[in-house]
Amino acid sequence: MDLGLKDRTIVVTGGSSGIGLATVRAALGEGARVALCARGADRLSRVADDLEGEFGADRVLARAFSVLEPRANAEFAAEVAERFGGCDALVTNAGQGRVSTHADTTDDDWREELELKFFSQLHPIRAFEAQLRGSGHGSITAVNSLLAYQPEPHMVCTSAARAGVQSLLKSLATELAPRIRVNSILLGLVDSQQWQRRFEAREDQGQTREDWFADLARRKAIPLGRLGRAEEAARALVFLASPAASYITGARLEISGGVSRFI
Ligand code: NDP
Repeated sequence: MDLGLKDRTIVVTGGSSGIGLATVRAALGEGARVALCARGADRLSRVADDLEGEFGADRVLARAFSVLEPRANAEFAAEVAERFGGCDALVTNAGQGRVSTHADTTDDDWREELELKFFSQLHPIRAFEAQLRGSGHGSITAVNSLLAYQPEPHMVCTSAARAGVQSLLKSLATELAPRIRVNSILLGLVDSQQWQRRFEAREDQGQTREDWFADLARRKAIPLGRLGRAEEAARALVFLASPAASYITGARLEISGGVSRFI
């Protein structure tokens, strides 16, 4: 199937690692031009060098900033317009989860998490909206989590924020139609830097990576018996972002190995 991405421009936030980086690679592999951002300049620059070597410097634009800074998003959007002539698809992926219960989440923690989850969507969307409207194939594809529908008490504020983000996306799918499609993926557990950090902080430091991840999949009762791979989430993102998904908007796609319990 031709996804129709050749010579189109995809912007991926949080593109220096994990699911974002896999999405960048998948989009470049489809012949798209890609603009990516992340906060950490060193890792981003290493990643950009690799991508430019593999796919060509004329197809990659990487800038280090936080998506929580509105002006930086606007400057990035202006640069994308100048360099690539506009943006056809925005993948809002930047972020991370917060492990904490009601008892150990302070008001400041709540504010920080709500700001991250909402404004990591809103700031890039505002910055790229005009370009997406003008694309003729504009799409926004958000990375969200099953926690939106299946909250976990040990991730109380992340779960609540993620439910709110689904509500936001549904409204946007209506308000931005027909010029821009808006969809999301709902992740279960995907092996990435986020889980690598939790593995490194494991209680039993003697446990191997393989055993720790197998144990995690068992404890979470994932029907497919393992965590997802970043590439598996990326394939879904690239499809939803592409013109091949031209009649899909306001939709959510689970990438979870079957771990959801709602219908
Ligand atoms: P990684 O930690 O591997 O990647 C996160 C990426 O986002 C990095 O490039 C990071 O770079 C960037 N990033 C984080 N905060 C910001 C910011 N404020 N501004 C710009 N870039 C930022 O994690 P994943 O690939 O797992 O995560 C991707 C998304 O998927 C996240 O939103 C995460 O919450 C979500 N998710 C992941 C799940 C999983 O199981 N892996 C489950 C549910 C949701 P840098 O730190 O340099 O900024």
